[in-house]
Amino acid sequence: MRIYRSPLLLRWLFPSAIWKGDDKHAVYLTFDDGPSESLTPWILQTLKDANVQATFFCVGNNVKKHPDLFRQIIADGHLVGNHTMHHENGLKTAAFDYLHSVDQANTLIQSNLFRPPYGKLTMKQYFQLKKRNLQVVFWSWLSYDFDPKQCSDKLKTKAQSIKGGDILVFHDNPKAAETLTESLQEVIRLLKHKQLTFKTI
Ligand SMILES: [Zn+2]
Repeated sequence: MRIYRSPLLLRWLFPSAIWKGDDKHAVYLTFDDGPSESLTPWILQTLKDANVQATFFCVGNNVKKHPDLFRQIIADGHLVGNHTMHHENGLKTAAFDYLHSVDQANTLIQSNLFRPPYGKLTMKQYFQLKKRNLQVVFWSWLSYDFDPKQCSDKLKTKAQSIKGGDILVFHDNPKAAETLTESLQEVIRLLKHKQLTFKTI
C-alpha cells in the first residue's frame, strides 16, 4: 500500500518539523536527490515554462558531481535544501556519522533547510539537527514517482487530492525519470486549474 499522506504519528514525534505550508492558497513543490544530469535540466525548463518556483533538496555528492546544475537551480530562483552527503538512511546510520554527512553536504549547499532521506530520522539526530538551527522539512503528499510500480496515470489521478498548503515530493533522480516526465506538466496544470499558486518552503 502506498501512503500518500504523511502519518500523524510522525507528525507527533517531530512537532517542530515542517509538514505543511502556511499558505492555504499555495502548494510547495519539492524535488529530492538531485542534481542529476538526466533530469535537472528538464525539470528546470518545465518549471520555467510554467513560471513556477520550487525547492530542491540536494544530495551533497551530486552537487559535487554537477556544480553547474546546482548553480543553475539557484540562478533560476529556486530554493535549495540539504539532503545529506550520500543519501544516508537515518535509522541505519549512527548519529555522529549522520550529522557529519549533513555538515559535509552543507559546506556545498549552505541552506538551513534539511530533509531526511526516506523521511527516516532518530530522535537523537533530530535534536542535533535542531541544535544546528536546521529546519527539518517533511512533506504532506508523496508522489511515488520513484516507484517502478507507480505509473504516471495513477500519479495524476492521486494528484487530484492535492490541497492548498500541501508540500509535494517529486524526485530529481533517474529512477523517477519516466513517471516524472510523463506527469509533472499535467500535475502543474491541474493545480493551477484549482487556483493554487506555487511557493518555496
Ligand atoms: Zn531522497
